[in-house]
Amino acid sequence: MIKYRLICEQDHEFDGWFAGSVAFDAQVAAKEVACPYCETTKVQKALMAPSVVTSKRKKNTGTPSTEAVEQVQMFMSKVRHHVETNFDYVGDQFADEARRIHYGEADEREIYGEATLDDAKDLIEEGVSVAPLPGADKTKAN
Ligand SMILES: [Zn+2]
Repeated sequence: MIKYRLICEQDHEFDGWFAGSVAFDAQVAAKEVACPYCETTKVQKALMAPSVVTSKRKKNTGTPSTEAVEQVQMFMSKVRHHVETNFDYVGDQFADEARRIHYGEADEREIYGEATLDDAKDLIEEGVSVAPLPGADKTKAN
């Protein structure tokens, strides 16, 4: 007996036992081999299309990958690095400074610093564009 990994026209995979490859071919030709999932008799050896089998297996692995999370974290740390490198740090004067820049009382530049949630809300209501700095590490910023 030979065990074959079979795949049907609907990409269902299943195992079948046969006396040999000739017997297998004969049984398939006689439509005696049916897919256990959809009952089609249009089946073939899965090994004949290894790339299909491989890609399907990959898709089916349901293990939650941390790749997406790491990508987001990397992106956030890049944003933060960009801000810390190119923006002026104004500490807890952020709200005042952002306002002064917005109203043209200070040089127009990009700044970052500490602001309370209320400060941020007020600034947004006044039309000052502010955004939370992702992954901000206050102990490092000081
Ligand atoms: Zn099937």
